This record gives sequence, C-alpha cells and structure tokens, in this order.
Amino acid sequence: MNRQKGGFLNTFTHTLQPYTGCTFGQRTLHGQGCPYCYVRKLPVALFKAREWGSWLDAKVNVAAVLRKELQNHERKGTLKNLRIFMSSATDPYQGAEINMELTKSCLEAFKDYPPGLLVVQTRSPLIIRDIALLKELREHVWVSVTLETNNDDVRKNITPTSPTVHSRLNAMRILHEAGIRVQAAVSPMLPNDPIEFADMLDQACSRVVVDTLFHGDGANGKRSESLGMKHLFEQYGYQSWYHPEAHGTLLAVLQRKLGNSRVVFSQEGFNTIH
Ligand code: SF4
Repeated sequence: MNRQKGGFLNTFTHTLQPYTGCTFGQRTLHGQGCPYCYVRKLPVALFKAREWGSWLDAKVNVAAVLRKELQNHERKGTLKNLRIFMSSATDPYQGAEINMELTKSCLEAFKDYPPGLLVVQTRSPLIIRDIALLKELREHVWVSVTLETNNDDVRKNITPTSPTVHSRLNAMRILHEAGIRVQAAVSPMLPNDPIEFADMLDQACSRVVVDTLFHGDGANGKRSESLGMKHLFEQYGYQSWYHPEAHGTLLAVLQRKLGNSRVVFSQEGFNTIH
C-alpha cells in the first residue's frame, strides 16, 4: 500500500495499485489510454519510454506484501483506521486481471484482515467475478464504478475501448442487488441526458459522485485542456458541455431523483464516503 498524504484523496490513508500502467485504452483513435487520464502526466508515466496506455507492469507479489502489512496493522490494532482506495492510478480490473488475479488476491487478504474502509474503483464488469469476496467484506467495502455518461455514442467517441454503458450499469445493478454498497463515479462527466441518466442510476447504486474535467483535474481545468479535451469536445460538437458549470443540470436532476444525501460532488464527494 502507498501512504496517502493529502492530495485529492485526502481522507484516505492509503492507495493500492495491483498494476502500474493501464491498457484499457489501447488502440483508441485518440492515442493511448482514456484521453482525459491525468496519470499520463504523473512521474509513473513520464519516466516510462513507452506512451501511457500501451504498457502494464503487474506487481506479482502485491497480495503477499499487502497481507504482511495488514497483519502488522492487526497486531497494532490499527486495521480499523485504514481507508484504502484501490486504485487511483490504474484500473484494478483491466484485461490482465482475468488471468493474473492480483486484485482478487488482494481482496482475499482484505477478507482475512478487513480494514476500516476499502473503496474499489473500476470501469470493468469483470469485478462481478469477485462478488463472493466483496459480499464477505460487507460494511468494509464500497465498489465505485466509473460511468461518465449514459450515452453510449458519447462513450464510443471519447473512450472507445471502455466497457459499454450497458455493461457497466448491469454490473452495478448485480452488485447493488447482492447487497454490496455501490457508488457510481460520473467522473469526469461527459455529455449526457440528465433525466435518463438519473433514472438509470437510481436503481443501480446507493450513491453518486459527480466530477468534472474542471473541478477534478486539480488545476481548474488547465490539465484537462493540456490533454486536448477541449479540442476533442469540439471535434464531436460537444462544445456546450465544455464548461465549468456544465454539470449543474445533472447534479440538480440527480438530487431531485435520488435525494441530496445520495448525491455528492467532486473531491469532497469522493472523500466523504464511509
Ligand atoms: S482506465 Fe483509468 S487509469 Fe486507465 S487510462 Fe482510463 S482513466 Fe486512466
């Protein structure tokens, strides 16, 4: 686990990355990786010779190391203080996980030594494979499923190699109906139909966090712009959505439909999960 000191996830004590790099976005029209992915600008990506999205390093001993760390916390009586976000700089359920099962092995360690809170964030329906482990973690876990839009044409245009809207919603529903706490991470929000989106999310999750290319990039939108997001929105005629307040309608519709307590926003929203 990596100690989390401040930063965006400032109420979490640790992050955990079973993989370094990400291959979800290979072969996209817009280069490698999700076009808005800020990780490509972090040292972990900048020090690599290959472009972000084209490489993946598996931490094959991640679960063994984690298990030892959790055992230490158990001995010290500090397991309950841990708030862990898996993962902040990769997706723990990308393709390699099908065979490598590193994330699954981490969940097995967490099952034996449950932390105060584990948030598992992914965009992949593969997480359903581990539903039995997630159920055993009960109140110690939230699953956060990234779903930036309800419009699959938008999804195809902006993140074409991401799982479909339908498959992600279906995964959320299966987890939710199994009694696992599910957060929808509309992050970053892409063009959508607010009323349809709210209807879809109401039955599929307990909580929704909305974030934007302006509030969530840590630089008031400058980082998103430097990644070419403004140009990409213009290319598809989405320019009216490229605005710091463009999330207002979706937020209001979600609050009306789901209630204020189930709808949170940006950094504060991610950090107030319990
Ligand atoms: S799936 Fe996540 S980590 Fe991978 S490129 Fe997309 S935003 Fe970045």
